[in-house]
Amino acid sequence: MRGQETSPETFRAFRAFKEGERSWTEVVELGENDLPDGDLTVRVHYSSLNYKDALSARGRPGVTRHYPHTPGIDAAGVVIESSDPALPAGSEVIVTSYELGVDLPGGFGERIRVPAAWAVPLPNGLTLREAMILGTAGLTAGLALDALERNGVVPGDGPLVVTGASGGVGSLAVALLAGRGHEVVASSGTREAHELLLRLGASRVLDRGELGESNERPLLKSTYAGGIDTVGGATLVNLLKSLRYRGAVAACGLVQSPDLRMNVFPFILRGNSLLGIDSANCQMPMRREVWTRLAGEWKPAHLEELTREIGLGELDDAVDAILAGRTIGRVLVRHRDAVD
Ligand code: NDP
Repeated sequence: MRGQETSPETFRAFRAFKEGERSWTEVVELGENDLPDGDLTVRVHYSSLNYKDALSARGRPGVTRHYPHTPGIDAAGVVIESSDPALPAGSEVIVTSYELGVDLPGGFGERIRVPAAWAVPLPNGLTLREAMILGTAGLTAGLALDALERNGVVPGDGPLVVTGASGGVGSLAVALLAGRGHEVVASSGTREAHELLLRLGASRVLDRGELGESNERPLLKSTYAGGIDTVGGATLVNLLKSLRYRGAVAACGLVQSPDLRMNVFPFILRGNSLLGIDSANCQMPMRREVWTRLAGEWKPAHLEELTREIGLGELDDAVDAILAGRTIGRVLVRHRDAVD
């Protein structure tokens, strides 16, 4: 069954091009034939900018293999053509991860076509706009919170550190942890974000440098009950060395470094845990559960406050800013079809 609604012959997309060492972007008109085969055609209302999208847009190795390409690992919109009776035309859906925006045209286009297995029905309690303020960053912060809770970290255990706190994942992690009643220490190198981080619920802000320098000592003072780390490298090592007995850190990012040079003492002397977080291939039952909780009991109160809205024409500058570490909070991409 295809099409209770017709899609326009053309739609706009932010395209990344790469030839040899040279890469550039343009906002272009595309047609139906530029979309791959798939069960669902979605009229995208909102997307968002993630660090990975910036890597894809600039042709950095390890993300997108084939150019020209439409980045955007996040999309939320309305199904306009469907071959899946469970998600008929008119369904509101969130599509993130898998190959979306990596090697299939992503949410920086006004239309996507994807397998039905990638779509999460928009849960009650979220608008399409809110879903994309959260986006992959919110899903990742939610998976990290879930991992910490499953590992027995509860409010009252002691302070939890969020690193890269002013970024997309970081700012949402601060808001989620604080909303659950945890004492949150925000580690940040962005002075202009300190006030926002305190408003989101951080009890204090730690300068990024305090955890960020390599330290040869096998263990550091036992201080934190855990944390959510978005930067990796020496910061993650120092955080692990600073945990209290049976503390845990959920690790999801590498903006400082993908390296992890350390010994096993935090694990074998303090019973600490390092919890790996991957949103891209997170299985559907867990994905739906986290989205349901993000729409309900976990829903952060300050979503609009940590958001800057842009259109496709402003994406190129926003890509430079996120790669340079100059982005605070979330960058929401609004398409022409957005109604709220
Ligand atoms: P952002 O760019 O929005 O946030 C990263 C933050 O890290 C910055 O805002 C800054 O915060 C801090 N930072 C920047 N440069 C450095 C540096 N050199 N050293 C230490 N800190 C730095 O990115 P996202 O929030 O979108 O992503 C964060 C990380 O998480 C990325 O590595 C991304 O690939 C990863 N990620 C992983 C996912 C997964 O499933 N595992 C899913 C989503 C993201 P401040 O100034 O406050 O210190």
